[in-house]
Amino acid sequence: MAPACSRTNSLHVAVIGAGAAGLAAARELRRESHSVIIFERGTQVGGLWVYTPQTEPDPLSLDPNRTVVHSSVYDSLRTNLPRECMGYRDFPFVPRNDDASRDPRRYPSHREVLAYLQDFAREFNLEEMVRFETEVVCVEPEGQKWKIRSKSSDGIFKDEIFDSVVVCNGHYTEPRVAHVPGIDSWPGKQIHSHNYRVPYPFKDQVVVVIGNFASGSDISRDITGVAKEVHIASRSNPSETYQKLPGSNNLWLHSMIESARKDGSIIFKNGKVVQANTIVHCTGYKYHFPFLNTNGYITVDDNCVGPLYKHVFPPALAPTLSFIGLPWMVKYLSFILPSFGISSSPNHILLLFLNQTLQFFMFELQSKWVAAVLSGRVTLPSSDRMMEDVTAFYAKRDANKLPKRYTHKLGECQVDYLDWIAEQVGAPPVEHWRAEEVHGGYRRLATQSDTFRDKWDDDHLILEAYEDFLRQKLI
Ligand code: FAD
Repeated sequence: MAPACSRTNSLHVAVIGAGAAGLAAARELRRESHSVIIFERGTQVGGLWVYTPQTEPDPLSLDPNRTVVHSSVYDSLRTNLPRECMGYRDFPFVPRNDDASRDPRRYPSHREVLAYLQDFAREFNLEEMVRFETEVVCVEPEGQKWKIRSKSSDGIFKDEIFDSVVVCNGHYTEPRVAHVPGIDSWPGKQIHSHNYRVPYPFKDQVVVVIGNFASGSDISRDITGVAKEVHIASRSNPSETYQKLPGSNNLWLHSMIESARKDGSIIFKNGKVVQANTIVHCTGYKYHFPFLNTNGYITVDDNCVGPLYKHVFPPALAPTLSFIGLPWMVKYLSFILPSFGISSSPNHILLLFLNQTLQFFMFELQSKWVAAVLSGRVTLPSSDRMMEDVTAFYAKRDANKLPKRYTHKLGECQVDYLDWIAEQVGAPPVEHWRAEEVHGGYRRLATQSDTFRDKWDDDHLILEAYEDFLRQKLI
């Protein structure tokens, strides 16, 4: 039987993960008077943003028994969102002029994001709720409640009972790898972007990067500084695509790889052939909940986690089980290539995939919703109604011929989704400047992918953001 929310307003809640989502969840849960324990297998808060030069022993991370390194952050990483719109709503991500070690840039480095999350945790005394170096190994229903089995760094297992569990374990750690025909006999090296940190190992090499999302675009540019040639393969590009990209003299964009051969060559669908040393798979990640046992109710099928009402609550297990942070945002922009600054036949269309999600902002809103539902201040529809909503959502996805793996992709609906959750909890909708900054960010990323972090044309939106922060006395 599904665990049900108890009638008391204050519940004992387990949060799994002390990344940006888990920290937001813990703060909102405590604001609603719940008692919270955050389980964190790492040694500090920040999750993905805790950079480590360490990588996994298996460069493609295919071995299920490998030692997992959580972070996928590379050394040169700077945010892909302007800082004003990236932060939590009531704790703006503004430069810290009182500390010379901090990065004041509008698109700062990953170190600045970690410092911001540490500031957030300190400001709201969140660390006192965290059990560090404690991994959740099993979550399962126990009567009307949940049993959590955890394992501490000294190998001791512990079972505890909670009223509710909020899953915030991140989804950028379990790599997805592209299938390339002939790859088994190809003699070169392959790695996944999860295990990419610095460009130096690629010195003087010919490198093929598969994938043209944020990481693929960043990493290929990072490598061009030391490599002999970098070739980006993207399955979204038309088969004739073959373009030299602006901003460097050794970076080419292709269609997808046709095959790899045992003589070391890579053949693209455009007919071009390169002798490559390494393939870097920038092909994304899988949702992965190895600890979750719901007797088969929640499944991950082709990266669709379900069934979930509005990507958060599994209808039959709501509201005591919830997920924060699953949706992601990719916007597709098609460009006539010459307008992208690349010489080409005039009718050549390039599809760009731009990944800019208001993640922290979404974590905060989803967390407010979960906390308020658990305390009984906000109610959910019945389990049947939620399931009807999920079924209708899947039907729409299928009618639009979207693959299952895009179930949690918000696409053009990001602001509508956020506004809908905001309405549930009585929060204001997404601010005009925030939505516009994301929109302008797409355009800049598409038209000046090599300079978008340092050149912009939306100072008026920065001004609007800061006026907003000042008006609310947030800075
Ligand atoms: P994470 O940060 O991954 O945190 C999950 C936490 O859960 C970790 O601390 C982990 O140790 C812990 N954990 C996992 N499993 C267990 C377990 N079983 N038991 C106990 N603890 C566990 N977003 C932006 O807003 N702006 C950006 O510029 C941006 N750039 C990105 C660049 C890259 C390369 C990637 C991969 C993502 C980027 N993102 C960006 C998205 C990013 O994922 C989110 O910003 C956010 O940090 C994710 O937070 P999270 O808490 O969901 O997950």
